[in-house]
Amino acid sequence: MLNVVLFGPPGAGKGTQSERLIEKYDLVHLSTGDIFRSNIKGETELGKLAKSYMDKGQLVPDSVTIDMLRSEVLKYSNPKGFIFDGFPRTNAQANALDEFLSTQNTAITLMLALEVEEEELKTRLLKRAEVSGRADDADPAIIENRIRVYNNETAPVKDYYLQQGKFISIDGIGSIDDITTRLFSAIDSRN
Ligand code: AMP
Repeated sequence: MLNVVLFGPPGAGKGTQSERLIEKYDLVHLSTGDIFRSNIKGETELGKLAKSYMDKGQLVPDSVTIDMLRSEVLKYSNPKGFIFDGFPRTNAQANALDEFLSTQNTAITLMLALEVEEEELKTRLLKRAEVSGRADDADPAIIENRIRVYNNETAPVKDYYLQQGKFISIDGIGSIDDITTRLFSAIDSRN
């Protein structure tokens, strides 16, 4: 299996690039943010809980997120692999993912980390708000908080995969096509 963690701060282009990767490598796309948003839309208990954190730009608690992710993975029989988009966002999630994947006789192949500097992220998110309808993209204070949470809690997850020799940094600035080419060559050089 090819299991990729597509990593990066909010606005780095994870969702856009995931679309390209799933098409080329025939993978299942699991975006925890998308799953939470569809639960919010469906007014589920999980959605109500997640919304209370997402509206503030905070992380949904690990236990809730990990349980959800596990049950999503189990929905697919014989997948070629997964793109984990927006997960793991803490070291506890990364650990739980490793443990869970080993029970499924598989593992993370590599982490591709899109690197984009903060000012560019803020510009991109505000622009995305015009089409995404996401409240957490439209408010500069929430954007600030999401970036702060990323720097404090999520960025350290890079070290987790670095120690496993699975970390690849990708320049996330440039045209969408150029960035896709960088991601494809990173994957192909490891496969
Ligand atoms: P995203 O769509 O990845 O930008 O995520 C939107 C929001 O969903 C985040 O700001 C968090 O509140 C929540 N979220 C998504 N993925 C996770 C995760 N792995 N752990 C905790 N919270 C998450």
